Amino acid sequence: MTKDRIFLSSPHMGGKELDFIHEAFESNWIAPLGPNVDNFEIELAKYCGIDHCAALSAGSAALHLALIILGVEQNDEVLCSTFTFSATVNAIAYQKAIPVFIDSEKDTWNMCPITLETAIKERIALGKKPKALVLVHLYGMPSKMDEIIAVCSKYQIPVIEDAAEALGASYKGKKMGTFGEVNIFSFNGNKIITTSGGGALVSNNEEHVKRARFLATQARDQAPHYQHSNIGYNYRMSNITAGIGRGQLQVLDEWIGKRRANNKWYQELFSDYDFIDVFKEYNDDLKSNHWLTCVIVNPNNKGITREHIRIGLEKENIECRPLWKPMHQQPIFSEYPKYLNGVSDKLFELGLCLPSGSNLTNIQKQRIETTLKDLLK
Ligand SMILES: *Cc1c(COP(=O)(O)O)cnc(C)c1O
Repeated sequence: MTKDRIFLSSPHMGGKELDFIHEAFESNWIAPLGPNVDNFEIELAKYCGIDHCAALSAGSAALHLALIILGVEQNDEVLCSTFTFSATVNAIAYQKAIPVFIDSEKDTWNMCPITLETAIKERIALGKKPKALVLVHLYGMPSKMDEIIAVCSKYQIPVIEDAAEALGASYKGKKMGTFGEVNIFSFNGNKIITTSGGGALVSNNEEHVKRARFLATQARDQAPHYQHSNIGYNYRMSNITAGIGRGQLQVLDEWIGKRRANNKWYQELFSDYDFIDVFKEYNDDLKSNHWLTCVIVNPNNKGITREHIRIGLEKENIECRPLWKPMHQQPIFSEYPKYLNGVSDKLFELGLCLPSGSNLTNIQKQRIETTLKDLLK
């Protein structure tokens, strides 16, 4: 008997998505603009507590435009979390700019403010003051915002939050994606909510968001004919997929509640195993959306390793994955400047992401629990 696959994070519809799609069909707004796009932008901005939003074709597109808007050009240096998904760095490469990788710290797994300041000082001494910083909140965990913002303000370096994984998470009550000069979200199929594929750029600066809309629709100048004085992109979100997004926003907080409950459940499950740490908030200022629950499998006298657990779960058709391989270790990015402290290398060596969807059923959880307990014997 083959068992159904249990996924890390799969799409989870709320129920209203099709209604919005029907409206789009009935009004023939089958285009990368229309009422669903306009309303999705308004509803998302309101949810986050930010003034302006442009709905785009992908989080990657949003990152690319964010860098352009902040004036990042060829050979400019851009500070960037090394512990992230490659899309963060690809956007920097699209501009032929140079990523400067900054390692993580242990509490949040996100960018270390101390390593960051060391890097900034050294880049400035070399005559290469970084043009911007791309800060990632990985797995939905907020970064140490007070510290990071303090360092960036001191050296006047604008921040782009890559909040692709952190929609709905907050720091001291303020939502992620509202701290930086320009910030981005992703609605890819595996994210906390999805539009099947899509993203958004948000900012409190209206000019930035207007510029994003302009660049995302082929940079057409004001004229009766088609006239262009900038390179443009086709990066807007479709009115169909924006309809999915509107339905998803209605259930976002409920789905986050389910992911947070998954994290609690894993904490309970692993509480008898002192060599396994379940990743969670290190203090109450942080509220993660727990997009994925991750564990660290520390060396132990049973000789149980991360690989032992990973292979064992896969055998039972339960999807799991090592943590993101740091960007400074990636063949394509290994030659770029990097400021390391060993944290992300260690996380990659010992960490594992576990099934965390808001749609995990009790039967699936039972299967995960039985399999894990068997592997940990
Ligand atoms: C998913 C993701 C992106 C890219 O978003 P897409 O919508 O897939 O282009 C960027 N950064 C991080 C950290 C992500 O997880």
